Amino acid sequence: MRTYVVAFADASDLSRELLGGKGLGLAEMTRLGLPVPDGFTVKTTACVASMNDDGVWPDGLAGEIDDELADLEGRTGQRLGDPGSPLLVSVRSGAAFSMPGMMETILNLGMNDEVAVAFAAETGDERFVYDSYRRLLQMFGEVVEGIEAHVFEDALARRKRARGVQLDVDLDGGDLRELCDEFKAIYRDRSGGEFPQDAREQLRLAIGAVFRSWDAPRARVYRRAHEIPDQLGTAANICRMVFGNRGDDCGTGVCFSRDPATGEAVLYGEFLRNAQGEDVVAGIRTPEPIARMEAVLPEAFHELVRVVSLLERHHGDVQDIEFTVERGELYILQTRAGKRTAQAAVRIARELVHEGVIDESEAVRRIDPAQLDQLLHPRLDPDAERTVIGHGLPASPGAAVGAACFSADDAARRGAAGEAVVLVRHETTPDDIHGMIHAQGVLTAHGGMTSHAAVVARGMGKPCVAGVEGARIDEAAGTLVLGDVTVRAGDEITLDGGSGDVILGALPLIAAELGDAFAEVGRWADARRRLGVRANADTPEDARRARELGAEGIGLCRTEHMFMARERLPVMREMILAVDDAGRARALAKLLPMQQADFTEILATMHGLPVTIRLLDPPLHEFLPDAEELAVEVATSPPGPERDAVERLLGRVRRLSEQNPMLGTRGCRLALLRPEIYEMQVRAIVRGALAVAEGANVEIMIPLVAFAEELRRLRELVEQTIADELAGSGAVLEVAIGTMIELPRAALRAGDLAAHAEFFSFGTNDLTQTTLGFSRDDAETSFLARYLEDGVIERNPFAQIDQDGVGELVRIGVERGRKARPGIKLGICGEHGGDPTSVAFFHRVGVDYVSCSPYRVPIARLAAAQAALADGSATSHDR
Ligand code: PEP
Ligand code: MG
Repeated sequence: MRTYVVAFADASDLSRELLGGKGLGLAEMTRLGLPVPDGFTVKTTACVASMNDDGVWPDGLAGEIDDELADLEGRTGQRLGDPGSPLLVSVRSGAAFSMPGMMETILNLGMNDEVAVAFAAETGDERFVYDSYRRLLQMFGEVVEGIEAHVFEDALARRKRARGVQLDVDLDGGDLRELCDEFKAIYRDRSGGEFPQDAREQLRLAIGAVFRSWDAPRARVYRRAHEIPDQLGTAANICRMVFGNRGDDCGTGVCFSRDPATGEAVLYGEFLRNAQGEDVVAGIRTPEPIARMEAVLPEAFHELVRVVSLLERHHGDVQDIEFTVERGELYILQTRAGKRTAQAAVRIARELVHEGVIDESEAVRRIDPAQLDQLLHPRLDPDAERTVIGHGLPASPGAAVGAACFSADDAARRGAAGEAVVLVRHETTPDDIHGMIHAQGVLTAHGGMTSHAAVVARGMGKPCVAGVEGARIDEAAGTLVLGDVTVRAGDEITLDGGSGDVILGALPLIAAELGDAFAEVGRWADARRRLGVRANADTPEDARRARELGAEGIGLCRTEHMFMARERLPVMREMILAVDDAGRARALAKLLPMQQADFTEILATMHGLPVTIRLLDPPLHEFLPDAEELAVEVATSPPGPERDAVERLLGRVRRLSEQNPMLGTRGCRLALLRPEIYEMQVRAIVRGALAVAEGANVEIMIPLVAFAEELRRLRELVEQTIADELAGSGAVLEVAIGTMIELPRAALRAGDLAAHAEFFSFGTNDLTQTTLGFSRDDAETSFLARYLEDGVIERNPFAQIDQDGVGELVRIGVERGRKARPGIKLGICGEHGGDPTSVAFFHRVGVDYVSCSPYRVPIARLAAAQAALADGSATSHDR
């Protein structure tokens, strides 16, 4: 038993962590008796040990490699560096997690001047031998000495030009031999030393370079993005070369056992005749579709079909396979789980169940919930060329194409008339809602992932790119300047909400839909999860979407959005600006029937499922015009009654404005000062509910409560108003009354609050903001980005719940609330309710349901099922 090195055929502990994904695949395939070239793996532990010792190999490693190599030479009857019978090998990195394109490969190692001459004489194929040698020189130069690839490629291109040929394969043996001399000269120039002729030295240097590549900046960046730990290290796989560049009965290719874009069960891939390694992906020659291989290499093709299907069954998943054909003989070089689109992931999981390969629980586990987002938004055609002019936060996924509009009024007018528009703003406010409703997507220069624009856009399922770096927007002039590009009102732009790209012009879109496949997988998930899933929905339209996507109720209906609609805002302002009680009452009386109609429609849409209606939350000044704009108007208007009116309005806005409105007179605080607002809303709810013929399931929720006394008083107001409304009507209406838990004090004193609440809904947006003291609107565009970059914190706490801090308060709130009132219903209605990792956390904490944007409902359903499967609490099991 060797410590660091093991032959493919001898690997008995098939550990991905030790062998890496590639090494594990090769060992498993060898064990299955598949045609894999012979070789061995240097384990990840060797990389880790040398990383920890400034690149110095651990004791015994060099000797073990020599011994293992000697064994391989014994089995193949060839020797590394022996001109009489040369063994050539590939050296390829392979970590436990796949890091496509991040790590290194060297082919044809063992070639040198002497071997080349003898090998050419023996094979009679000078072209093949020097083609192999020049590839080694280039790859070795790049990987070991860090010489840029283009230096070699330029030399190759020059030679092809000089010979008047297009393709590498059109160069003859003599050309390639001379090219090798040129490559050696490049190597000498750039590295300051000769290309090592000693094959064992080549091997040692190559393995060292593979180890070092683990720590290359691009690999580190990739790991950070994919949350792969830095300490794992990579394995190195040393494999006897098989040659796809030995003539027309040879070739190399890549194939998937199913189509990774659509999920269709067809062999999918490409191959290239008389080619090696990277040629297929390098785009130098256009590879042929895999189906063509049947005509030109029929035996190898049929063997490939057999092996692919065997590997897929063995792994129970789609495989991404690299192969080479040498002299008509197939060799498999690598197999791994194939990366796929969301559409393919769902279809494949479902079909594998139907084919009896995996069970339903496994199908539920297989799909990445976060990826489902892709299914729910129209996508950009990935093949279309894009002119990227700017970049911002990918705040809400999907693609939007339309004419740039710089005001909400303009966007609403043009959008309502059927034009596709993109709303472009410094940042949005509730005043812009009508523009957002009629826009395809939203771009903002400021604001982060939970800015108004982001939250509202996600809620609407619209793409949003927020906080676009360096964007200069002149809303009055109608221009957006990004670098040296100026976009004017009416110019077409495209937003990629998944990447944050801002693109000039209209890119073609591909429609998206959840599809039949998800309907079935979604049912499997529903049967297994314990957590309920509701939606945050403010309009009948949202409510319908939520139902379609599988929501079991509405967990948060934010009533303030109902006051934002165009014809209502003036009435709302009238109410806020009223000078006396009578004026206020008149305005409220006008608002009541409007709200009532909304409630009736939403409640009817939900067919008796629970609907949690939150009474008004934001501070009143949000419904008034912007103070700065009014000040400009006052300054630029001629004296007269009109200017006086604007001035009075400005005074009012200023009196209502607060330094920190998020921590000011909002929610229940506002209600205790102006109880008539909640009273009107409760009347509208009761009347709206009574108008629903089949009955309504209403829950009324009071926001931003810190003290039990706030809740006690407002509960009394709500109960009294309901009783008033019902008095004498003979009607009965059960209404649950509860509160949001969105302040640390509320979580800590949950026991007191439970005395007055039939349910709690944790508003984790505000709870995050108030626990961390991070302003949601400012943090993401200022220090939070730096925090994440510098690793001060690992994740954006507004996107994924801060489990140790904010999560601890949720845990305390759950525990104390339940203790005081055992049957209390507990939910989550912050943005975190649609984030898979947070959903798993809420499952463990033991709340009853999560509520999220309608478009994230399928994600939450799947994440909740996965959480139940992970801890063995799934409510349904496979036979
Ligand atoms: C919350 O604070 O989590 C919440 C849902 O309320 P809002 O986002 O409307 O403040
Ligand atoms: Mg809140």
